Amino acid sequence: MCADTKTCSKCLLVKPITEFYYHSRTFETKKAKAGYSARCKECDLAAQNDYRLRSAEQIKARKRIKYHESKEDRIYRSINQTMLDNAKRRAKKYNLAIDIDQGWIDAQMANPVCFYLGTPLEIRERKYGSKKGSYDSLPTLDRVDNMKGYTKDNTVICSYKANTIKRNGTVKEIEMILEGIKKVLSRIP
Ligand SMILES: [Zn+2]
Repeated sequence: MCADTKTCSKCLLVKPITEFYYHSRTFETKKAKAGYSARCKECDLAAQNDYRLRSAEQIKARKRIKYHESKEDRIYRSINQTMLDNAKRRAKKYNLAIDIDQGWIDAQMANPVCFYLGTPLEIRERKYGSKKGSYDSLPTLDRVDNMKGYTKDNTVICSYKANTIKRNGTVKEIEMILEGIKKVLSRIP
């Protein structure tokens, strides 16, 4: 009677079962059930080492960016990232289409001007609890047609002020409000 053997899923060699790590029930997760690893000990250790090296490189690269970028760059990056994070969250919550990405936002922000008002967009940290008016020139993402999602053809970057004015009004509704404002202003001497 021969000893138990198992084929390694990585190197494809048939090895004695003692050459495979046993994952007890304690470590059982949804992905990995208790039992012998699919890879032999040698391949398991090599994969672990690979992963450690790769993540160490990633951490180093991230630290390098953080260390070298100026405070302005960091704020600029954080604002752009926050806009995308918020869009992703809202898209998920309201089941909206989304195809914009960080590259698209960065490209739009290369010229930080409100799409609707043409006013400069302010790149600074958002201080919560400050006066409402001070949000006015901060950049926001606007879905032009509010029934549609965060797609490149339906999204613009505009000031918080323009976004607040427009809110979820349709073209017709915004026109009606404008006509109303003009009507009242025309009868005031
Ligand atoms: Zn192997």
